[in-house]
Amino acid sequence: MAFLKHIYAHICFLEALFNFFVVINRNGKGYNDMKCEMENLTEMFGCNVFNDSVMRERLPKATYKALKKTIDEGLPLDPAVAEVVANAMKDWAIEKGATHFTHWFQPMTGVTAEKHDSFISPTTDGKVIMEFSGKELIKGEPDASSFPSGGLRATFEARGYTAWDCTSPAFLKEDAAGVTLCIPTAFCSYTGEALDKKTPLLRSMEALSKQALRILRLFGNTTTKRVITTVGPEQEYFLVDKELYKKRKDLIFTGRTLFGAKPPKGQELEDHYFGSLKERISAFMKELDIELWKLGVSAKTKHNEVAPAQHELAPIFSTTNIATDHNQLAMETMKKVANRHGLACLLHEKPFAGINGSGKHNNWSMSTDDGQNLLEPGKTPHDNAQFLVFLCAVIKAIDEHADLLRVSAANAGNDHRLGANEAPPAIISIFLGEQLTDILEQLENGGAKSSKQEGELKIGVSTLPTLPKDTTDRNRTSPFAFTGNKFEFRMVPSSASISGPNVVLNTIVAEALCEIADRLEGAEDFNAEVQGILKEIVLKHKRVIFNGNGYSQEWVEEAESRGLPNIRSTVDAIPALITDKAIKLFEKHQVLSRVELHSRYEIHLETYNKQINIEALTMLDMAKREILPAAIKYTNELASSINAIKSTGVSADTSVQEELLCEVSSVLASFRKNIKALEQATAEASNMHGNIYEQACFYRDEVLGTMNKLRADGDKLETLIDAALWPIPTYAELLFYE
Ligand code: ADP
Ligand code: MG
Repeated sequence: MAFLKHIYAHICFLEALFNFFVVINRNGKGYNDMKCEMENLTEMFGCNVFNDSVMRERLPKATYKALKKTIDEGLPLDPAVAEVVANAMKDWAIEKGATHFTHWFQPMTGVTAEKHDSFISPTTDGKVIMEFSGKELIKGEPDASSFPSGGLRATFEARGYTAWDCTSPAFLKEDAAGVTLCIPTAFCSYTGEALDKKTPLLRSMEALSKQALRILRLFGNTTTKRVITTVGPEQEYFLVDKELYKKRKDLIFTGRTLFGAKPPKGQELEDHYFGSLKERISAFMKELDIELWKLGVSAKTKHNEVAPAQHELAPIFSTTNIATDHNQLAMETMKKVANRHGLACLLHEKPFAGINGSGKHNNWSMSTDDGQNLLEPGKTPHDNAQFLVFLCAVIKAIDEHADLLRVSAANAGNDHRLGANEAPPAIISIFLGEQLTDILEQLENGGAKSSKQEGELKIGVSTLPTLPKDTTDRNRTSPFAFTGNKFEFRMVPSSASISGPNVVLNTIVAEALCEIADRLEGAEDFNAEVQGILKEIVLKHKRVIFNGNGYSQEWVEEAESRGLPNIRSTVDAIPALITDKAIKLFEKHQVLSRVELHSRYEIHLETYNKQINIEALTMLDMAKREILPAAIKYTNELASSINAIKSTGVSADTSVQEELLCEVSSVLASFRKNIKALEQATAEASNMHGNIYEQACFYRDEVLGTMNKLRADGDKLETLIDAALWPIPTYAELLFYE
């Protein structure tokens, strides 16, 4: 017995020692982390998620079944079920070290918000117990007056509600504050208007499901209960050294560089794309993967992107709702993990001028709850009428509502990318590829009889395998490309939530499906009506299909002659939100009301104006307090040098110094003039009260215009001045130094 006790004491000691080292090694991170990492990947994946298997294990059978029905079939949630779930969730979270819970929501700021409450509840004997009720799970009440509402609520009307979204699983966040149970929620006002990005997304998913089901029923499908839209967002980002980052106010305040001359090398050698990863970057990526896997985010692909210091992460697709939540988590986690590696993660669409910026490729499709991808063409798409109906519905939707799709991808950052030969043009068009374009042509001419088949790809080396060839090549220049069994919307801004683009996609496709279903349901000859509708859609909307080079000037002209809109800037795009057409559409499908659309319009413009204003002020600060003094110092040095040489009495040539002094002084004069012009423009802009749209136009034309001039002078100075005097890290340092 004593022997056993002895062994037991030893084990305890070893465990304590181990824990001690874990804590030391992990630099303050919790024990949970290590436990997750030690087990194998399949066990680590989702270890911080209250997911299906945890629910199945911990909930009474009846509760589990009821909750599943809500999640999978959209049935209303029973409060009694919530009570049981809350308790199980709490026990699970506490076992994993949680002390607090938070309703996690996505206000219109584009970032997530949380307010932490602890589980403690006082008892009569002066102690506490850990409690979490169904009511607390279902409903939260953050004082929400400081979130953007676009005039939906006055500041004194502070009440806002968060409501549990059980279709996106709760998860645990671990950080310096400990472990927190995060409950994904929707956020709305006292009067029930959506104040967030999740509410309209959930509504749009329902709208699409309802209309898609009508079509499926018409094709004889009696079993599908729900149609889900699926999304896999590919996320691009930059990593730069944190110490250098801290020396650039522009990166800190605006996320992009407002000054910076071109370095000798850019991306012209194309040696970064898919290049092997540098040590520090791969260490970052490894930890990012682990952190995301623990949260149940299925990070799958990672690689270097085209621009130096640019990278990409792609997860495996999931339901649009979960994909949207997970993309927020991915962006947040990237920033957090970068910090731990002495890096700063830049999610801005255009952090550096002269090299590619970042976007998000929003891969989108529709699928039945029993797993049938409705955009899967099969081997012979020409005789797959159901596929052709869904495909044509998308084509019709995109052409009819190009303006909405465009505004869903608009923000101040993306204005630097779209149409700039690195990202799709601002013109919305669809790439379909050879096979489907051919089928549409056949439909137009009276009926599709055949599908072009894929061939084999012979590489010409007998030891290499013969590869089956895809039916169509890729087109990287198209904003909306069919990629085999999904569409890839490529205009989406890297820093933004993917909710907006998907709300639009779901709603406009729902509308197209609705119009088709209306006709088919009333048709006498179903097959003839299908053929008729398909032909009509092709005839009317083929103008939006373009398989050529979207970056070319010819396309801009061609698109114009086809009557396709080319909406060049965010400010031009925003009014699409409040056209009669948009209001009718969103109200019909109960996705956004007129009032909600107007609020979004306001918020969009307000955000734009504020962002440009911050950029202008940051630029002025850097120009006046960093660049100007450095330039003056340099002119001083030159002048002293000229004087010093002359005072020696030696008749040495001082023309180099004199020329340089003249050149720097003349750029300096222009720089100073543009500082004043920018000061005036920003003052004028912020004094424009009244019409927020006019103010936005002024910010775009006058303020941004002047910023560009000031930048040109600043960048010129950078190339003239002694490097030792230059006050901010250069592009070369930011992009190429490890
Ligand atoms: P590609 O090479 O064409 O970009 P990938 O297979 O790498 O294709 O997929 C890119 C993204 O598209 C991934 O996030 C992937 O999970 C996602 N994806 C694949 N199928 C679908 C689908 N049916 N619906 C939504 N996203 C999808
Ligand atoms: Mg892709």
